[in-house]
Amino acid sequence: MYYYSLNHQSPDTNFEEATVRGQAPDKGLYFPSFIPKLPAGFFESIRSLSKEEISLTVMKPYVAGSIPDAVLQQIINETIGFDFPLVQVNSDIFSLELFHGPTLAFKDVGARFMSRCLGYFNRNSNHHTTVLVATSGDTGGAVANGFLGVDAVDVIILYPTGKVSPIQELQLTTCGQNITAVEVEGTFDDCQAMVKSAFMDEELNGKYSLTSANSINVARWLPQQLYYFFAYQQWREEQPPVCCVPSGNFGNICAGMMAYASGLPVRHFIAACNSNDVVPQFLNSGNYEPKNSVATISNAMDVGSPSNFVRIMEIFEGRLSNLKKILSGATVDDDSTAATIKAVFEKYGYTLDPHGAVGYYALQQYLEQNKQDNLKGFFLETAHPVKFPGTVEIATQKKIAFPDSVQYLLQKEKKSIALKSGFSHLKEWMMSKA
Ligand SMILES: *Cc1c(COP(=O)(O)O)cnc(C)c1O
Repeated sequence: MYYYSLNHQSPDTNFEEATVRGQAPDKGLYFPSFIPKLPAGFFESIRSLSKEEISLTVMKPYVAGSIPDAVLQQIINETIGFDFPLVQVNSDIFSLELFHGPTLAFKDVGARFMSRCLGYFNRNSNHHTTVLVATSGDTGGAVANGFLGVDAVDVIILYPTGKVSPIQELQLTTCGQNITAVEVEGTFDDCQAMVKSAFMDEELNGKYSLTSANSINVARWLPQQLYYFFAYQQWREEQPPVCCVPSGNFGNICAGMMAYASGLPVRHFIAACNSNDVVPQFLNSGNYEPKNSVATISNAMDVGSPSNFVRIMEIFEGRLSNLKKILSGATVDDDSTAATIKAVFEKYGYTLDPHGAVGYYALQQYLEQNKQDNLKGFFLETAHPVKFPGTVEIATQKKIAFPDSVQYLLQKEKKSIALKSGFSHLKEWMMSKA
């Protein structure tokens, strides 16, 4: 297994270098040279395997040569040391709860896996790597938590001031040690633009060895496949499931489609988007038109130009007609999202977060439109509702209990660096502390 750049202007490389670089020198995303096919026997016996065994089988070919098996198993065990329950909401719809990790959103798995891989690659070096990342909320917390205390890795997280929820802000700003939070007077897009400029600035790259912890990084993207295998292990229905994935940057759903390409039985995928719906529009019209993002109540999906969609096209060798057989898109506006949180709570007593609600709504619609096929499916519940109390508590009229696992945050003190929007401000600050 090697990795090539989707821009085809950089040399091929291995898992280690792809992880350390984040992006290829030609600014392309790395993609594996082949997608391993898992034997039928693996799926037939999946219920008798532990999630650690499943994960090693799935991940091993992708890291081949870069990490010895025993170390990889250790990394995996630390990465997935919590539950991924598939919870039935009604007769046809299940919720794959991905919020039982330390920062209460699905990004914990990718962040933990990547941090431990980088830690291993840096094991004999006194050379520091700096992870630079922009967040609209959940990535920052997961990255901060995943990298906290990892040797020889420093983390700088940019977030838009006033635009993340209180618990997200605590997760970002209270770590200390090797984690620095930078509060930017601007939007998520501004933060993202500052990070992108930093990767291209020669002077800054002379002082720092920078990498990204967004889902463009293969070590963050690929382990997300595991959710879909864990769901299948718990799936007891006759037909393969319809998988509905609340999508923003399209890393998660793209990982799911890699799992499918490896042989995982899936009936259909739905990319559920909020009003930032470039991909659903593309699937309908054939025109791919990235836009500036608009703010919604499912803010982790406010992405106007999803980075990972090119990887999905690569899985299908650029053939839109093949892709459309297995993937549909859906657009869910804020009113429908809030109404879904309310209705599902009242009818089934299940509390959705705004991202899960986008997924639930899109899945319900799809099952309805294909009634004759008697399909069932699950959506990915990508974050705990307590991360979005402003929206969820208004819809359900009920206070959400703070999980015990995050109570400790309330005692901690916020520490951040405040910067104005614009790359020059970031550069000036980074050069001054280098
Ligand atoms: C990041 C995130 C998403 C979007 O995932 P992508 O991989 O960017 O498509 C959805 N929901 C939540 C809660 C998130 O944090």
